[in-house]
Amino acid sequence: MDAVRIQRVDSPKTYTFPMPSQVQTITDSQDRQVRVIPLLASVIFDKCVGCGVCIKTCPTGAIILNRVASIDASRCTGCGQCVAECPQEALVLKRA
Ligand code: SF4
Ligand code: SF4
Repeated sequence: MDAVRIQRVDSPKTYTFPMPSQVQTITDSQDRQVRVIPLLASVIFDKCVGCGVCIKTCPTGAIILNRVASIDASRCTGCGQCVAECPQEALVLKRA
């Protein structure tokens, strides 16, 4: 199955998920063709221990922490940085 694999440049962590149908191809600022998928982060509440690592990672301030983390969908860009950093694997990306 075709899949999208994401890896942070400063971390060995990677994750892979099946490629959904609505992949869009865009041209980035260096004129490269890039495949993108509209995504939002989502918290698996049973796994979240409220450590706050994801809040420090998120560049848009889209994560709110009470007892567990939750996502402000209006701010999440689907960048995946929180998913890569969560020590409990409590964050996933879902189609927006
Ligand atoms: S990093 Fe993971 S376990 Fe920690 S608060 Fe965020 S979602 Fe929960
Ligand atoms: S996917 Fe990116 S923008 Fe969305 S909550 Fe995670 S770190 Fe923040």
